[in-house]
Amino acid sequence: MVNASKNLGLSWSDFEQKLLAKNRGRFSKDDLALIKKAFEYASEAHRLQTRLTGEAYINHVTDVALDAASLKLDVKTVSAALLHDTVEDNVATMRDIKKKFGDEIAFLVRGVTKVDKLKYHGVERAAESMRRMFLAVAEDIRVVVLKLVDRLNNMKTLYVLPSADKQRRIATETLEIYASLADRLGMGEMKNELEDLAFRYVYPQEYEWVKKEVGAKIPEREKYLKKIMPVVKKELAAEHIKPLEVSARAKHYYSTWKKLLRYEMNWGKVLDLVALRIIVKNVEDCYSALGVIHKLWKPMPGRIKDYIALPKLNGYKSIHTTVFCLDGQPTEFQIRTEEMHREAEYGIAAHWFWDEAGKPRGGAEFKEQKFAWVKQLQSWQKEFEKEQNSEEFLESLKIDFFKDRIFVLTPKGDVVDLPEGATPVDFAYHVHSEIGNHAAGAKINSKMSPLSSTLSSGSVVEIITQKNKKPSAEWLTFVKTSLAKNRIKKVLGIIHPSKKIGEDSAELNIVVKNRVGVLKDITAVLATFRINIESVSSAAHGNDYPTITIKFRSKKAEQLERIKTRIKKISGVQSVAEKIKP
Ligand code: MN
Repeated sequence: MVNASKNLGLSWSDFEQKLLAKNRGRFSKDDLALIKKAFEYASEAHRLQTRLTGEAYINHVTDVALDAASLKLDVKTVSAALLHDTVEDNVATMRDIKKKFGDEIAFLVRGVTKVDKLKYHGVERAAESMRRMFLAVAEDIRVVVLKLVDRLNNMKTLYVLPSADKQRRIATETLEIYASLADRLGMGEMKNELEDLAFRYVYPQEYEWVKKEVGAKIPEREKYLKKIMPVVKKELAAEHIKPLEVSARAKHYYSTWKKLLRYEMNWGKVLDLVALRIIVKNVEDCYSALGVIHKLWKPMPGRIKDYIALPKLNGYKSIHTTVFCLDGQPTEFQIRTEEMHREAEYGIAAHWFWDEAGKPRGGAEFKEQKFAWVKQLQSWQKEFEKEQNSEEFLESLKIDFFKDRIFVLTPKGDVVDLPEGATPVDFAYHVHSEIGNHAAGAKINSKMSPLSSTLSSGSVVEIITQKNKKPSAEWLTFVKTSLAKNRIKKVLGIIHPSKKIGEDSAELNIVVKNRVGVLKDITAVLATFRINIESVSSAAHGNDYPTITIKFRSKKAEQLERIKTRIKKISGVQSVAEKIKP
């Protein structure tokens, strides 16, 4: 019975039922008529297609549409979700969609459609679709959310792809770009799901290991939670705080792995940290609940974070505190209101797709609201488009937009968003190219500082300019942003500084004595060379030292030599051998 429905694909009445079950009262009669029209169009267009899983193709687009609906996207986006693969698969044309569904839906479909398969290849194609995606962020955020939902659904069926290489490539892209983008949009749940789905393909051994260890700790955790939950609830009640929810947070494998890397692979530090979430009615109750927790247990110094008073830049709000709980067990509490919770899970979707009354917003409103980083990206990407090649575009994208950011202030109090490690020169160019071009010195928090200093969040930076000053080539050795780099090169007349020296894909075989943190030290070296690791795997050989194999791309042979020298110096590393592929 299950198989029969699998091949047939969802009928309209099945789909409608699923859609309405989770979105009661949200769609009008007209809305449903539009969605039905899109459903029928897509059913007809994909009639002869099946997915690699054996399922009817329509089931993919209905899944995407259902997810879009549950993120509270509007009726036009839900309809576009149903149509999103018709043009890409050449079973329909953009013109036809426009004629039958109007400009707005056609615009959304076009945004989600991958770039022309024949015109672009490989890296170029990836870069081109990234460019499109970012332009879409700037133009209409709904396109990007649809792309994220589409990617999420594709990741769920990635296992059917016959080639492990292809699986890894798609999963890496998901991890580096899509999950990071979801994070930037404040969509916590989407980010976690994408990461966990990609993790097993990008780092299969590490994934299995983390999964096993986390699983083994579950009974102990549950026992501990059973002990503290009633205590928390009782004390809250005594203070007349009615929590809407007190719950343990689910552990996500990838974020656990990243934590492990940060804590030198010390499971103790990562897993023993039990985390509880308290959801209350209003902000007042958040602070009262914090008081209750601190009265019960001693807070850990430096671990109280008030993201309600100072929200994170992606909009995240909550109070975090870690206390020495029962038996001195460090336990983290996150305290927030229901609204903050919804925002943390859905991010931009919670802000932009619902109005005050809980009704979905219309199309025009999406175009007005923008994150500061989106605007910055737009101008930056225009700059980039003219001169750089695709590969460099992708590289700088990873460095400029998805690494940790710092936020510094101009003397007037404007916030400038820069990547970690940025210098006053980067700052100067981000304020204005003329300020960069004539920078003579910098004051950080009123103190004269070198132009090559590393900036940190919250600093007030003032650039001192002189008319006759010009950029020097030395600046290129310390600036971090592509914007600054490009402008400096332009003034210096360097158009193609690093003429393509055929990029080699290098694989290092590193034999290590098992030491906590050794892998982290190795990856830290690669990070200083700004190298993106393609894969890391480790193999144990009985009682022998394990071998770690790291695959990455190195631009120059001499760079590879320097990397090897640095890695050899790491304590615990026994040998480093390389093979360069032609
Ligand atoms: Mn799709």
